[in-house]
Amino acid sequence: MSYVDEIIAKVSEKNPAEPEFLQTVEEVLTSLKPAIEKNEEVYRREAILERLVEPDRQIKFRVPWVDDKGQVQVNIGYRVQFNNSIGPYKGGLRLHPSVNTGIIKFLGFEQIFKNALTGLPIGGGKGGSDFDPKGKSDREIMAFCQSFMSELYKHIGADVDVPAGDIGTGAREIGYMYGQYKKLTGRYEGVLTGKGLSYGGSLARTEATGYGLLYITQELLKCHGQSMEGKVCVVSGAGNVAIYAIQKAHQMGAKVVTCSDSTGWIYDPEGIDVELLKEVKEVKRARLTEYAAARPSAEYHEGRGVWSVKCDIALPCATQNELMLDDAKALVANGVMAVCEGANMPTTLDATKYLQEKGVWFIGGKAANAGGVATSALEMTQNSERLSWTFEEVDSKLQQIMINIYHNIDDTAKRYGVEGDYVAGANIAGFEKVAEAMLAQGVC
Ligand code: NDP
Repeated sequence: MSYVDEIIAKVSEKNPAEPEFLQTVEEVLTSLKPAIEKNEEVYRREAILERLVEPDRQIKFRVPWVDDKGQVQVNIGYRVQFNNSIGPYKGGLRLHPSVNTGIIKFLGFEQIFKNALTGLPIGGGKGGSDFDPKGKSDREIMAFCQSFMSELYKHIGADVDVPAGDIGTGAREIGYMYGQYKKLTGRYEGVLTGKGLSYGGSLARTEATGYGLLYITQELLKCHGQSMEGKVCVVSGAGNVAIYAIQKAHQMGAKVVTCSDSTGWIYDPEGIDVELLKEVKEVKRARLTEYAAARPSAEYHEGRGVWSVKCDIALPCATQNELMLDDAKALVANGVMAVCEGANMPTTLDATKYLQEKGVWFIGGKAANAGGVATSALEMTQNSERLSWTFEEVDSKLQQIMINIYHNIDDTAKRYGVEGDYVAGANIAGFEKVAEAMLAQGVC
């Protein structure tokens, strides 16, 4: 049995109740085979893969808070500090009822490679809670965030672990958590990213993941003699990543005709109205039915369906495993040319393989959505410098980072004889950097 297959089997035996974690380990390690085989003796002796798949530590804690009726509620908090070989742990905090150890481990594991790809000094971590912010009052959100931070603060710090937003954690939640960290420690430091502009946040961080997704997609098209101009795109999700992906796609001359949330989806043949979408989702925090009610050209459909719409480019920006084999088949039948992931692991393994076999250009989330964490790292830099950069400064750095990522994953794929396999290119490029640092730092 190969070293890679041995480790996949061990992970699967040790973590049977963590399907998302197993899925990402299998995806990443399988694609690393050519790189591992090149240096297998050293990697085996140094147990690089065994160390890579086991987090440095997992923190799990009780989060008690009082709701508006005076009832005490209890949620579970998580922080998985996966690997800090190239920098402090860095990764978002997800607040969603589906959150469990396996989901946080999958996200933390992916973060190691994604963060390495940015070229910036950040390690991999992830956290969150099974708390559901939907339908909660501002006071309840604050009560939860304060209680969550009352434990988390012991484990994080500007040079230790720097969490950020993710699903369910936006500027409001980061603000309440930052206030509590400051109160408990007395320190005013860049311990969280995604902060408000008035207290250390970075311009362009809000837009970064969606914009970065379009910058890399544009570079991909450019290198294949194409452009975004006139392309029809389908986007899933209607949150932070989706909104700014749609906005940038429109700025590049493409037309985005769909978006979705957890209950339904919109088909708007005239192109999604981003300002209206922002009003519905960022201000009113309402359902997409409100978008359809205000926009005569839009159709609202219950359930899933975004991938059935004819398009040139598909950008999944909602959540994991939202693009399955049948969806991939529908996209291919409709002539899709590229799929680039805004969300983390939105495409299932069989769907990814199908798209690649059919010649669709596919860039996975570790590369395609790295613009968010890269800009978070730029926020850390500004905090350390006690300076704030202009929007244009941050945006142009982001653009260059995404272009570099594209060429890095493309060149790496070519170097290992798998030209055009951007998933393998991304995993191997991220792995090479982290493995080199791990080897240099000895057994730790
Ligand atoms: P948001 O919470 O802002 O938005 C998530 C969107 O996806 C919402 O429209 C939500 O619908 C929908 N959604 C969430 N869960 C489900 C589900 N189970 N089924 C269907 N739809 C769902 O999150 P973000 O936009 O920040 O994150 C989206 C994805 O991008 C995640 O995978 C995240 O990990 C990834 N990502 C985010 C980064 C960032 O900077 N924000 C950086 C890198 C990756 P509803 O409105 O109904 O909840």
